[in-house]
Amino acid sequence: MTSPAIERLVGHLGKLPGLGPRSARRAALHLLERRESHLEPLLVALRTAAESVRACSVCGNLDAQDPCAICADPERDRAAICVVEQVADLWALERTLMFRGRYHVLGGLLSALDGIGPEDLAIAALVARAGAPEVSEIILATSATVDGQTTAHYVADRLAESDVAISRLAHGLPVGGELDYLDDGTLGTALKARQRLL
Ligand SMILES: [Zn+2]
Repeated sequence: MTSPAIERLVGHLGKLPGLGPRSARRAALHLLERRESHLEPLLVALRTAAESVRACSVCGNLDAQDPCAICADPERDRAAICVVEQVADLWALERTLMFRGRYHVLGGLLSALDGIGPEDLAIAALVARAGAPEVSEIILATSATVDGQTTAHYVADRLAESDVAISRLAHGLPVGGELDYLDDGTLGTALKARQRLL
């Protein structure tokens, strides 16, 4: 028998990706037994992140500043925008150090099965950004899954009227591979060898 307070903690930890019920229990115990060195600093970090980190109003990246550090960086190339499904993909591309433009986070992929339509994603905001005179290339970096490809084609269609080149990450990406799981070299190569769509 464990107390409801501990069960609640285990329940919340168990909702985190990669943590099943067993590891959630182990993590809870680990924290409770190391109150000063682990539990208290985690509380502070969670509170600080919850209060300060927001989605960037330009690209959707997560940061404690808005616009985010990437959007606000004058050294970044303003001509290219790389379109990704989620923030994890943006971070994966940043790790490759090969892209010096800016990003646009869609917030998901089109999915008939899950009932996710264009209005659920940040597509209208992307079309608006693509209309800015300094933007000349949109790179579609959605995953090679069916939904990823459907979304890329839909977005390309929506951008057809814009005066921008549209490219797609090179094939050779594992089918069904999500960007975050690729090693940096593979992802960097796919970016470098991107193919022109429109
Ligand atoms: Zn941003």
